Amino acid sequence: MSAVKEIETPASTSIFEMVGNMGHEQLVFCNDEATGLKAIIGIHNTVLGPALGGTRMWNYASEQEAVTDVLRLSRGMTYKAAISGLNLGGGKAVIIGDATKIKNEALMRRFGRFVDSLGGRYITAEDVNMKTKDMEYVHMETEHVTGIPEAMGGSGDPSPVTAYGVYMGIKASAKKVYGSDSLKNKSVAVQGVGQVGMYLVEHLVKEGAKVFITDINQEKLKLVAKNTGAQVVSMDEIYDLDVDIYSPCALGATVNDETIPRLKAKIIAGAANNQLQNEAKHGYMLLDYGITYAPDFLINAGGLINVGAEYYGTYNREATLKQTEGIYDTCMRIFSLAEAEKIATQEAAIKIAEQRIEAMGKVKLSY
Ligand code: NAD
Repeated sequence: MSAVKEIETPASTSIFEMVGNMGHEQLVFCNDEATGLKAIIGIHNTVLGPALGGTRMWNYASEQEAVTDVLRLSRGMTYKAAISGLNLGGGKAVIIGDATKIKNEALMRRFGRFVDSLGGRYITAEDVNMKTKDMEYVHMETEHVTGIPEAMGGSGDPSPVTAYGVYMGIKASAKKVYGSDSLKNKSVAVQGVGQVGMYLVEHLVKEGAKVFITDINQEKLKLVAKNTGAQVVSMDEIYDLDVDIYSPCALGATVNDETIPRLKAKIIAGAANNQLQNEAKHGYMLLDYGITYAPDFLINAGGLINVGAEYYGTYNREATLKQTEGIYDTCMRIFSLAEAEKIATQEAAIKIAEQRIEAMGKVKLSY
């Protein structure tokens, strides 16, 4: 593996080229006529352990788009696990189709059987358009699933832990930029107040930060504003606010050619996956603009830490939160490396993750 890559995939790229380019081990196409299931499981790297990552259901415009998504997402999981010190590899699955139309018990259980057929090389969990109930169906067919409800002995919703890790990442970034990690009187623009965003806003407000929020969903927005006193702004306005910190907690690719010149924030730190539209280009563009970027796959790893503990049977919410606190120190380590080597923070983070994978790969050479 090598550090940051251009991972845009033109339509002419063959599947083996795409898989090879990003260094994946395995790509599994799952097809079932009876239930209408069309799924792809991507296993990126299992040097550190079995590949753990959620299942996303999405109505992709093309099969190529679904392949690209599963390849990108599973690669991100490898780095997330590695940098968080977990003994897990990187994987992810996508199910192609409109969740409101095709999702049902039979389809989810059939998917569970495909997961089971991999014998534990891939462990699934919830992602976009998946609910805990869906994981219950998957669990009827395989043990290789996490994010099971607490009532069934699982770890429940990982979002509060993810939010806590993002909060740690924001504090570490403030320490780097302002010399203090206190967020009192710091202004933060939070894009998306869903499962993670709403818990994050609570942490920020509690510490005395001035918080601005936006969301497509007006009801959620009003509720979070009412509960926390955060100020509502429009969806487009979020990029132009005169704030200290921009925290993307909705979508990927919001850090791009168009938005970077508009941002006045000195820090970008949020929960969304794949925030940089182009990892290499925009990582360096932020460096040029003097904006400190806390790598997304590091600071949103709380959820993975949570489900990882569930999988290994060592789950304890307090211990998980303590482990998630470690994100602060890892951020500081990455900022130091990036500064010393004059490289983008994203590149520094990938470098540290790859070093761990390489070193641990050597440990496993002998039994
Ligand atoms: P969610 O779906 O609960 O919340 C996302 C919110 O963003 C929703 O309220 C949605 O209405 C809003 N939104 C969508 N498009 C928007 C736009 N253009 N502008 C403003 N708001 C918009 O998801 P979540 O679980 O809170 O996750 C948030 C992000 O963090 C996602 O990118 C997810 O992949 C990532 N993430 C989540 C976890 C977790 O534990 N839940 C872990 C790691 C990463």
